Amino acid sequence: MAKIIYIDLDGVIADFEKGKESHPLSGQTPFIGRPDRLPGLYENLPPIDGAIEAVNTLLDTDHFDVYFLSTAPWDNPEAWMHKRLWIDKHFETKKIRKRLILSHHKQLLIGDYLIDDRRFNGAQEFTGEWIHFGSDKYSGWEAVIEYLINE
Ligand SMILES: [Mg+2]
Repeated sequence: MAKIIYIDLDGVIADFEKGKESHPLSGQTPFIGRPDRLPGLYENLPPIDGAIEAVNTLLDTDHFDVYFLSTAPWDNPEAWMHKRLWIDKHFETKKIRKRLILSHHKQLLIGDYLIDDRRFNGAQEFTGEWIHFGSDKYSGWEAVIEYLINE
């Protein structure tokens, strides 16, 4: 049976840090310290190196049932829309259609793996296995794919 895998967006496949730094309003009030409220930020984030290829690898195998599981800022409603548009821009629509879940409570989702760079919003309490993206063990997509597929 296919294993259910959830993939976070920011810091895992979407480069929030890079997008924040290059945003024209990032150094201005009221966005200093609140980059998650920058207008249009989430729509234009560049992908993280190797992420698109890696996620396509997971999407293309029968061994995994892939969903995106991200938290969108409550006070920035356009971010909710932009996350939906972002995955459509970077992946083939038919592969990812209806596979985006936005939640502040990731621990409520049932599944085998969660690939996430941070412990917040329920990631640490996830009842499957939390693959801590960016940690020593899973420093990048190469290590994650190696673990999930080639092991
Ligand atoms: Mg993240």
